[in-house]
Amino acid sequence: MTDWHAHARNVRIDGRIVIDGQRRDAASAETFDTVSPIDGRVLGAVARGAAPDVDAAVASARAAFDDGRWSRQPPAKRKRVLQAFAEKILAARDELALLETLDMGKPIQYSLSVDVPSTARCIAWYAEAVDKVYDEIAPTGAHALALITREPVGVVGAIVPWNYPMIMAAWKLGPALAAGNSVVLKPSEKSPLTALRLAELAVEAGLPPGVFNVVPGFGHEAGEALALHMDVDAIGFTGSTRTGRRMLEYSGRSNLKRVYNELGGKSAFVVFPDFADLPRAAATVAGSMFFNQGESCNAPSRVLVHESIADDFAAAVAAQAPQYAPGDPLDAATVMGAMVDATQLNTVLAYIQAGLDEGARCIAGGHPARTETGGQYVEPTVFDGVGNEMKIAREEIFGPVLSVIRFRDEAEALQMANASAYGLQASVWTNDINRAHRVARALRAGTVHVNQYDEDDITVPFGGVKQSGNGRDKSLHAFDKYTELKTTWLRIEPA
Ligand code: NAD
Repeated sequence: MTDWHAHARNVRIDGRIVIDGQRRDAASAETFDTVSPIDGRVLGAVARGAAPDVDAAVASARAAFDDGRWSRQPPAKRKRVLQAFAEKILAARDELALLETLDMGKPIQYSLSVDVPSTARCIAWYAEAVDKVYDEIAPTGAHALALITREPVGVVGAIVPWNYPMIMAAWKLGPALAAGNSVVLKPSEKSPLTALRLAELAVEAGLPPGVFNVVPGFGHEAGEALALHMDVDAIGFTGSTRTGRRMLEYSGRSNLKRVYNELGGKSAFVVFPDFADLPRAAATVAGSMFFNQGESCNAPSRVLVHESIADDFAAAVAAQAPQYAPGDPLDAATVMGAMVDATQLNTVLAYIQAGLDEGARCIAGGHPARTETGGQYVEPTVFDGVGNEMKIAREEIFGPVLSVIRFRDEAEALQMANASAYGLQASVWTNDINRAHRVARALRAGTVHVNQYDEDDITVPFGGVKQSGNGRDKSLHAFDKYTELKTTWLRIEPA
């Protein structure tokens, strides 16, 4: 059994910027501490990137794009380099998993089994795809030829959150790099370490320096500078709806760069009494809600249950909660880790208080945990008797807090499920095939699950409607974000 605490004592922390394949300090020489939510320990100093560093990173990315060192390489060449990058990620599995767990608090077993392999698979999948995607010829007739081709957009700014730091970066990097773009990545200030390491591994794998630069720093400094930059052609953003709104403003205030927003969620999990295996439904909602400490954009945080089964269902979900009690993230048996930082923990605790204040009944959890560790932990929490208009049912909590809401009939279930500013995911549980189709069609969400919530794969698009965003990560559709369509007309002279 690996002693992750021993590894943690020896892990190399390098928080410097990566530009042109080289590590460097911020132009200001300023740093900030990255702190582990596991125990409050300072992991190391991270370069506080700001506008001058973003300028340097974008200039490097632009030079790389313009001289064609990557953008004009044949797809088969880009494929080989990205495959090598994916292999490097897998080879660095222990190091990357440990950095991810130390930096943002998720259990080491999931960093190892989910975050690292999913990151590698994403890069490898786009590598495989890139020499299998064909362009088009329009049906114009004999007098002319019209080619419809895809070209890389140029310099892509990727701005990502802290809940799945590597995976979220890979969802941007995979399609953007495979399509021939250069990328400047701004990781979250709460989890910058793995992104910096990925940039080094990419260069080791043969990605030409300058094609992938990483500038760590704060949102209002490095993030704003990147999104406002006049020489950035597209922003691939994942984060909160609040910041997504800003991304659109930055675009309007600068060069009208394309903005693809992947934002928050408040996903509905709708359970009808005709579903035959209610214990499985209860176990699934608990597992999906409490995975990653509830810090998942698609967490099924609103459980809509028919009133005839609601008491039993709420009790069954509450009974699942203790098995997700937080533990030491570096212990291989732990299933729930630490919240990312004290701010996020306090946000979650404030929502729990708001639920109590509005009259919801807390039937599991509700308290901070492991306070003696100096880390940021909270119990998996279930509220019953929640009204769909309550704050805990309307707002994204981004922590392990689940609300059980009762409905009377299908029409009311649909009305409540769709009465949300968000539309990321939803699910319906029923054994009636007509109802399954009817409800799945009527739910306003980017993804709808029927009688399950676990399936997910790089092969399908991921993203939302309404204030959950506009773009789609994953699948071949993600190429749409990082390529421009060009039409080229050729006149064909008669013989
Ligand atoms: P956030 O919006 O606070 O930060 C996201 C990124 O934006 C970070 O890198 C941050 O530094 C940067 N940023 C913050 N303010 C900025 C500003 N003014 N200008 C430029 N950049 C700025 O979000 P978060 O707390 O890191 O992440 C949690 C959110 O991400 C949740 O809402 C969650 O639902 C969402 N999320 C969505 C998806 C999806 O695919 N839809 C996936 C994961 C997370």
